[in-house]
Amino acid sequence: MPPETKLTPMMEQYFKIKAAYPDAFLFYRLGDFYELFYTDAIEVSQLLELTLTSRNKNAVDPVPMCGVPYHAAAAYIDTLVEQGYKVAICEQVEDPKTAKGMVKREVVQLVTPGTVMEGKNLSAKDNNYLVALAQGISDFQLAYVDLSTGELKVALIADEEGVLNEVSVLRAKEVLLTNDISESTKELLEKRLGLVFSYQETMICPPHFESLTNELDEGLKEVTLKLLTYLNETQKRSLDHLQQARMYQVDHFLKLDYHSKANLELIQALRTGKKQGTLLWLLDETKTAMGGRLLKQWIDRPLIQQQAIETRQNQVASFVHAFFERGDLQEALKKVYDLERLAGRVAFGNVNGRDLIQLKTSLQQIPLLRHILQGIDQGEWQGLLSRLSPMEDLVQLIETGISEDAPLAITEGKIIKTGFNEQLDQYREAMSSGKKWLAELEAKERQATGIKTLKIGFNRVFGYYIEITKANLVHLPENRYERKQTLANAERFISPELKEIETLILEAEEKSVDLEYQLFLAIREEVKKSIASLQQLAQAVSEIDVLQSFATVSEKYQYVRPTFNQEGRLRIIDGRHPVVEKVLGHQEYIPNSIEMDQDSLILLITGPNMSGKSTYMRQLALTVIMAQIGCFIPAESAEMPLFDQIFTRIGASDDLIAGQSTFMVEMIEANHALQHATTNSLILFDELGRGTATYDGMALAQAIIEYIHREVRGKTLFSTHYHELTVLEEELSQLKNVHVGAVEKEGELVFLHKMLPGPADKSYGIHVAKIAGLPKRLLERADDLLVQLENGHPIQKAPLPVEQLSLFHEGNEEEQRVLDELRRLNVLEMTPLDAMNVLHQLQKKV
Ligand code: ADP
Repeated sequence: MPPETKLTPMMEQYFKIKAAYPDAFLFYRLGDFYELFYTDAIEVSQLLELTLTSRNKNAVDPVPMCGVPYHAAAAYIDTLVEQGYKVAICEQVEDPKTAKGMVKREVVQLVTPGTVMEGKNLSAKDNNYLVALAQGISDFQLAYVDLSTGELKVALIADEEGVLNEVSVLRAKEVLLTNDISESTKELLEKRLGLVFSYQETMICPPHFESLTNELDEGLKEVTLKLLTYLNETQKRSLDHLQQARMYQVDHFLKLDYHSKANLELIQALRTGKKQGTLLWLLDETKTAMGGRLLKQWIDRPLIQQQAIETRQNQVASFVHAFFERGDLQEALKKVYDLERLAGRVAFGNVNGRDLIQLKTSLQQIPLLRHILQGIDQGEWQGLLSRLSPMEDLVQLIETGISEDAPLAITEGKIIKTGFNEQLDQYREAMSSGKKWLAELEAKERQATGIKTLKIGFNRVFGYYIEITKANLVHLPENRYERKQTLANAERFISPELKEIETLILEAEEKSVDLEYQLFLAIREEVKKSIASLQQLAQAVSEIDVLQSFATVSEKYQYVRPTFNQEGRLRIIDGRHPVVEKVLGHQEYIPNSIEMDQDSLILLITGPNMSGKSTYMRQLALTVIMAQIGCFIPAESAEMPLFDQIFTRIGASDDLIAGQSTFMVEMIEANHALQHATTNSLILFDELGRGTATYDGMALAQAIIEYIHREVRGKTLFSTHYHELTVLEEELSQLKNVHVGAVEKEGELVFLHKMLPGPADKSYGIHVAKIAGLPKRLLERADDLLVQLENGHPIQKAPLPVEQLSLFHEGNEEEQRVLDELRRLNVLEMTPLDAMNVLHQLQKKV
């Protein structure tokens, strides 16, 4: 709010502009600085650790102010945007020298997290999505755009959960709510994403955007146009690189909710949030930034149509076989820059000479790519080859026009090649003959004066001058030159002849710089006409890159090509967990098979902690995902059905929403799976029910298994430490028990990590205790208790029989404490490993 007192004209202008951008920090250009005022200044000075000063220190109400130099502003703006703020950049839009009164200023761009075009917030292998959302009567309309690449997509989404999922999967940086959306959805979006805000109805949509939405029906058109309007309002410039809005169907892909994706560590590791240790990390042998982004998109959206998967498989296979050609291909790909983002920057108008050279270098690789693909196997690559246009005209234009070592600046010349434009050549000729004349003049004057050290130099203030050292001044004939500047040990002069040459050179220089700029803009406009073709080409190159990446990984780790069947047959022989195998090394990893069909729907997995149950389950999920994105898989051989969805409830939940307990989250996720799974789905439940009391948990687990068996009938792996559940095999015909094997080796129990048929050995915990060397009588007692429990008798509450107590010498205080501890233990609540640990602790005390 402006203060009560009368404002200076400048502050008046400031408040007027600021009023239009209440939720952004206004970077107000003042000479060589961007200044911030009032609350903006106070907040930003803290966020960026800048000194807070004030504009009129001595006034009654000084104006808080802080600023950053304009040439360093980009880094400061990046930092603010990274933290989720918006920055409005307000420039002087007329020349202060010629302006009458206040210099006119306007906001030229609003930088927001979802509309970043360059800088450190735009990582090469990540998309940067801005999402617009509208709630319809029966569903949600969603549109998203990546401003840096021009990708524009829309979808209809059934429910709130779907929206949350989609937005999380897109890792949207910013969400624009275009109509009234329930508070709960909004809250959830905010919690998961941060920047969520509402669309201002006052914005006006420029008419040329309509054409991008031609193929959409009304609801989707509206939300897309609002998204585009927002882009127009914030960017205020040409956005010719935006692609036609394309509709996609969320159910045309394998469905995997956000939690499952996070749990399976597809893109980000759970603990670190990094790529290391994820499926993406394993599969990423891409050589281009575009390929890196597409790989992520493919992992996020595995396919469900057999034919589409098989097309990718065929292509991967042809690359696997063509080992040498693949090497050449990778070398060529390494020279391909980010065509998609280059195209975006051409449209945006912030491309420079070097970018165009990068564009040319990239395009020059295309004939080579074509040649390699044609050499490998024409059949598989026909479709891609037709999209792989070498764009020779564009290469030719840049080749003849842009100098190889063009500078970053586009207004200081040295961009355009000689021979491209006659006028420019003439200016350059004039400049170089001017320089030749200077050399001649220097020689002539040396001879005339006899001063051998006389030289002609240049500086920005005086232009060209003749310099003579103090020592030689005595030899200089009186009035030969006009004195211009005195230095410590030299004098500088000018002469009419020198001035004449100078005018010629400087004029030619100025004109050539202007002309070069004009020529550069013309070339840029010409390139702009090819944006759509460039984008198409970029898409084709990124597909090739991802497919070669699959081939490289498949060969490196000896993956095989799976086949698909419609009969629900799953048969993976000697499968491996690809990421664990990569970490442990091929030798160390114990392969495991899995076989399921209509007669074995549910595998009930028992076995001690740390034996490899959840690795086995994750292995299957990752294998299915790899197979359905078209990659080969870690196994000796594999047949599989096409899964439509994967549901997982694995490991600790990372997302304890709004104070819900782990158990609640577990149940919500289980419910979600039970409600949505079909016979073609894969369900992975790891230790479901662990989060509540034993009988409670066991009862729920059993009921859930029965329900899946009877109603849901999706393929299910269910791991449990409730040994009691293994009897279900007798009643449920399509449930099979499997367990992880263990052997005793040199007095230690070694997990084989090998899945074996049948239930795990129930007295496993006692077995471990025996190996650990616990007293014989204690073990006998444990055996007794086990039998009682198995026969349905609750655990004895009475103190242990006296003879058992004689394990310890009575009267010893320490031992008494151990006994007390032993009594307090709730054995039923403990895992075998916990039991071992406690026993070990107790034993240490006596
Ligand atoms: P559980 O779910 O039974 O507690 P995990 O699946 O977490 O056990 O596995 C425990 C550890 O055993 C993992 O950290 C992994 O390194 C190792 N492991 C699991 N399966 C295998 C295997 N097939 N081969 C080699 N090591 C394995």
